[in-house]
Amino acid sequence: MPKETLAYLSLGSNMGNKLYYIVSAIQRINITKGVRISKISSFYETDPWGVKEQDSFYNIALEIRTTLLPFELLRTLQRIEHELDRKRELRWGPRTIDIDIIFYGDLNISIEGLTIPHLRYRDRNFVLKPMYEIYSHRELLLKYMKRDSCKIKKVIPKIVISSCLLGKNCNYKGGNNKNELLLKLGDRVDYILVCPEVMGGLGIPRTPAEIKNNRVFTKENIDITSEFNKGALLALEKAIKNNCFLALMKGKSPSCGFNKIYSGDFTGKLIDGDGVTAKLFIKNKIDIISF
Ligand code: ATP
Ligand code: MG
Ligand code: MG
Repeated sequence: MPKETLAYLSLGSNMGNKLYYIVSAIQRINITKGVRISKISSFYETDPWGVKEQDSFYNIALEIRTTLLPFELLRTLQRIEHELDRKRELRWGPRTIDIDIIFYGDLNISIEGLTIPHLRYRDRNFVLKPMYEIYSHRELLLKYMKRDSCKIKKVIPKIVISSCLLGKNCNYKGGNNKNELLLKLGDRVDYILVCPEVMGGLGIPRTPAEIKNNRVFTKENIDITSEFNKGALLALEKAIKNNCFLALMKGKSPSCGFNKIYSGDFTGKLIDGDGVTAKLFIKNKIDIISF
C-alpha cells in the first residue's frame, strides 16, 4: 500500500449558505480516492481578513491522511472548489469555499502555484485557532496566535440529520445507515434528528415504499402518502423551530432522498426526483446534502 501522509487543510466560506458549502466540501474531500479525514475541528465564525467590507466567514480545519502527492492534492481541492461554485474575482474577496493546504507531512516547498506550509497561515487566527484543536504540535501555533487581532468565535451550528445516518435502527429493514464521517462531525455540530417515516406514524421495520405519480405506495400497493406528508411536516416544523438551514439526508429514500429516488417499480432502478420530506425542505429554503 502506498504510504499515507498526514496533512492539514483550512476551509473557509462567506457566501450563501456557508454551512452547506463547508459540509459539502468535507463530504467531497472524504470520498476522494486516496484521502480520508481523520480529524475535524470546531466551526468558527470569523471577521473577514484582508478585505474588510464583506460578510463574516465560517472556518474549520481538517486533518487528513492521504496517498496523493502535494500537487495531486491541490488539484483535487481546486476541483472541489470549482464544483462548489468558487469564483476568483477579487483577491481575498467573497467565496463560496476556499480550501488551502497548510501542512503536508513535514514538507517545505515553494514552487509556482504551491507553497507548503501555507505562506500566510502564521498571520491568521482563522487558520491557527481551528488547527490548534487538532494538531499535535500545538505550541508552535500558540506562538503565532498573538499576531492577529481579528475577531473569532467558536460556534456550534444546528443541522438536521436523518437519524439512520447516525446509527439509529429506524430504516425500513429495522437497521441503520451509519456514516462514520457524520458521527465524527457530530462532535462539532448540534444535530437535530429526524426520521420522517417514523414521525409520520410508520413502524420499524416496515414494508418498503416508493414514489409513483407523486404518491407513495408500499410494495403491497397500499397508499401511504398521508403518513409521508405528516412526517415531512413534522420534520419541517422541527427544522424551523431549531433555525436549521441545512439537512443531511439519507439518499434514495422516498422521504429523505434528494435528486435521485427509486422509480416506483421496486426494481432497484433510480430516477431523478426527491423524497417527500426533501421536497418540502427545498421549498422552505433548507439546503440538503445527500449521504
Ligand atoms: P490565500 O492563499 O492568501 O489564502 P486564497 O486562498 O483566497 O488566498 P486562492 O485564490 O484560493 O487564494 O489561491 C490562489 C493560488 O494559491 C492558487 O492558484 C494556488 O495554486 C496557490 N497556492 C499556493 N500554495 C497553496 C496552498 N498551500 N494551498 C492552496 N493553494 C495554494
Ligand atoms: Mg485561502
Ligand atoms: Mg485558496
